[in-house]
Amino acid sequence: MHSPWDYPDFDDHEIVHFVTDRQSGLRAVICVHSTHLGPGAGGVRFWHYAESGEALRDALRLSRGMSFKNAMAGLPLGGGKAVILADEARTKTPELLAAYGRAVERLGGAYVTAEDVGVAVPDLVEVAKHTRFVSGLPVAEGAVGGDPGPHTSYGVYLGVRAAARRALGKDSLEGLHLAVQGAGSVAGGLARLAAKDGARISIADIDSSRAQRVADEVGGTAVPPDSIMTLEADILSPNALGAILTEESIAALRVPIVAGGANNQLATPADGQRIHERGILYAPDYVINAGGIINVSTEYLADGDMATVRGRIEQIPARLEQIWSESEATGRNPAEVADAMARKLIGRA
Ligand code: NAD
Repeated sequence: MHSPWDYPDFDDHEIVHFVTDRQSGLRAVICVHSTHLGPGAGGVRFWHYAESGEALRDALRLSRGMSFKNAMAGLPLGGGKAVILADEARTKTPELLAAYGRAVERLGGAYVTAEDVGVAVPDLVEVAKHTRFVSGLPVAEGAVGGDPGPHTSYGVYLGVRAAARRALGKDSLEGLHLAVQGAGSVAGGLARLAAKDGARISIADIDSSRAQRVADEVGGTAVPPDSIMTLEADILSPNALGAILTEESIAALRVPIVAGGANNQLATPADGQRIHERGILYAPDYVINAGGIINVSTEYLADGDMATVRGRIEQIPARLEQIWSESEATGRNPAEVADAMARKLIGRA
């Protein structure tokens, strides 16, 4: 029999909590990877998994990712993540959300929940009736908290500028060609900020009307989704899906920089090495896309206002610089350097 401790994605997680509530039908896994820096914070995913093992794998991997992200963002938070195993029809009831809230509460604050794929603000409002350990609740316009998207966009924009400075010696994005994958919340915000600086935007989305809308707004060009990864440009900014950097796609890239907000861009750790060997500057995703969690954490910990949030997001370029400098000094690729730095911060060097 397979021991849970030998599970491939198990990385000395502090808590792996299986939840079953027969009455509501809830089945969930809550994983806390590390509480070294604070409560394990990260969203809950509501997803139909063909196989329940996939749910555990997701929770293990995503919670470790949150440990690394929160540590590298300088937040007093550890990393956690939960998944709720939805049925095929994705039936979500108040009873199910209540049972989930009670399960989070039982962990006594070791895990703090928030939005992720399939979970929206109204769901969290239900969850919050049963636990204190929740963030990402509705806030007044202009207050800290709420939609993380614009904050993520701002951090990605600053990271893109830092990459242009480092790889191209440019102090501004003016005249640079930015190829943006995705035209959703993060991508749209990034495109608007970059266009304001005078960047030329090419943008692609599988929903072509979305791409066209953003292109029209920023005076850019909408391109087909299957061509964005091979476009000749100054910067490729992935802001849609994960696992888009593979052996094949990396070989076909025609950019000196890849810097974007999508989570888990590298299909495998080997792809971090491949992109490095091609001489392409890569911004580790969980470092550049931390703006949203910075906002959420400032809301949850109530330790600052909007200026605090902006100030914290504005540290992202310095952190990237530190990673790139160490990469240059040691020859290790930036993704590997970032992982090592994060491990050190959570006491697991
Ligand atoms: P979103 O749903 O608003 O936008 C994603 C867009 O990508 C959609 O318009 C979708 O149609 C498009 N898309 C999907 N597959 C595509 C493909 N193959 N080619 C081109 N476009 C495709 O999501 P978002 O909030 O903007 O998040 C984008 C990415 O950033 C995700 O990977 C997310 O995990 C990551 N991220 C988001 C935040 C945040 O604050 N929203 C924070 C950190 C990381």
